[in-house]
Amino acid sequence: MHEMSIAQSVLDIAFGEMEKNAAKEIRKIKLSIGEFSGVVREALDFAFDVLKPGTAAGDAEIEIEVVPLSVVCPACGPIETTLGDLNFVCPHCDAAVRLTGGREMRVDYLELD
Ligand SMILES: [Zn+2]
Repeated sequence: MHEMSIAQSVLDIAFGEMEKNAAKEIRKIKLSIGEFSGVVREALDFAFDVLKPGTAAGDAEIEIEVVPLSVVCPACGPIETTLGDLNFVCPHCDAAVRLTGGREMRVDYLELD
């Protein structure tokens, strides 16, 4: 499962920060996941539930913010679309559109103890 390796690398980042800060425990991990990143939120939650126990992140709260898709046409500006309708050309002028949001996959912040 894709999400398992993502959760593992997020935890690796967190453990690395913990070491740098001489902390003992991870309290909270805040993540941003783009709607278009291909990450299934439920699967990611599940992956953390599997990987956290017995680690320094065992009691950590995982907060996941889903960043909505945002698409811009170079001629018409921002375009309203949904993931299902997205086809990378502008519905008004057929120009190639740019994805300006929704591909995120990042750790926003960590709370250490
Ligand atoms: Zn357009």
